[in-house]
Amino acid sequence: MTAVVDVGLYPELQRYGATDMSACFSCGNCTAICPLSENDATFPRRMIRYAQVGMKDALLSSKELWSCYHCGECSDSCPTEADPGEFMAAARRYAIASYDATGLARLMYLWPALGTAFALALAAFFALFMYTAAGPQSTETLAIFEFIPAELIHNLGIVVMILVVLAGLAGVTRMTRAVGRREGVGVRSVFGDRAALARSGRALWSSLGRESLGQARFRAECETEKESVAWYRRRWLIHAMVLWGFLGLLAATALDWGLDILGIKATGTPVPIWYPVRLLGTVAGLMLVYGSTVMIIDRARAASQSVARSSVASSSVARSAPADWTLLALLWITGVTGFGLELALYLPEPPAWGYWVFLLHVAVAMELVLLAPFMKLAHAVYRPVGLFFVALAREPREGTGTSSG
Ligand code: SF4
Ligand code: SF4
Repeated sequence: MTAVVDVGLYPELQRYGATDMSACFSCGNCTAICPLSENDATFPRRMIRYAQVGMKDALLSSKELWSCYHCGECSDSCPTEADPGEFMAAARRYAIASYDATGLARLMYLWPALGTAFALALAAFFALFMYTAAGPQSTETLAIFEFIPAELIHNLGIVVMILVVLAGLAGVTRMTRAVGRREGVGVRSVFGDRAALARSGRALWSSLGRESLGQARFRAECETEKESVAWYRRRWLIHAMVLWGFLGLLAATALDWGLDILGIKATGTPVPIWYPVRLLGTVAGLMLVYGSTVMIIDRARAASQSVARSSVASSSVARSAPADWTLLALLWITGVTGFGLELALYLPEPPAWGYWVFLLHVAVAMELVLLAPFMKLAHAVYRPVGLFFVALAREPREGTGTSSG
């Protein structure tokens, strides 16, 4: 197979945040220290080599790109300060932008001022669009769905979800085809017969259950902070809080909608705190607010401490792309306005600000979901796919007793 060389790859990766990779002289320290390298004697420096020689397709079709949790151990051990951990993060940003055919991810990453302006305009659009259908603001009770009709929110939500699924599917399909081609994995080797299905099932459980939802490897192997960082500040937990919180809020919203459709509970009907869907939403909201708040604090501290690789502000959070700040802001505003709304709903006297907090909450939540495939949140889908290929490569092939990994 002929490798196509792209001389623009290296400078392009630098635009996405990669440091000066020409400093890397392939000493192998990062490979020796990386908890993920296992039997692979070339990870992660092989990725750096791809960038140095312009092997764009090889980089974009690497399943290992998505294994890295940006723990920063390799960067701490690099004698030339080439910062391989940050290189891997930059390469993932580049991959997200490359898989996205709309160009929006590229805009968010490479033109942060424009990206931020776009994000603000999108939130304003959602708020104004819903406000055009605004009804009265009752002063006797906080009637939020008289103010903005639930049906309008549901319909807008459906449109947003369709767009997100289409954009997400397009990106994941491109990635899956690229990685699959390189790995020699096709539809038949995943679904072809019972043995293939069994291997795929185990790989799916490993990638989606253990690694993505359970954060197994992140917890077990990519943590050097056990001694120095309190358990409630550890990176894997904070990452998990944001992930579980976001997924929990999505699930609570979908369930609430489902109960409405089934005629069990109309959207907006006051329910006690222990009502399952409300409880799920409250717990998920707490996780999201806690996780995103700690992330913002840690990243702000790290940004102001350009030294400190050994403290909590490790190299893994030393450089945040502006688009990552936009994402964190959206997550935080969604969580905080959700609690603001809950507070307003249960106050004895309904406050007028409750209506505006509600409008802001819905507008920002819609925007967060719509922009998910174009920002770092997209790795919540790309990473499990990459990990699926990693896990599949470890599965023994029938008749050989060997794996391809
Ligand atoms: S430790 Fe640094 S110099 Fe050595 S191979 Fe890794 S990135 Fe290159
Ligand atoms: S950041 Fe951590 S997981 Fe990623 S390549 Fe470096 S040592 Fe390995």
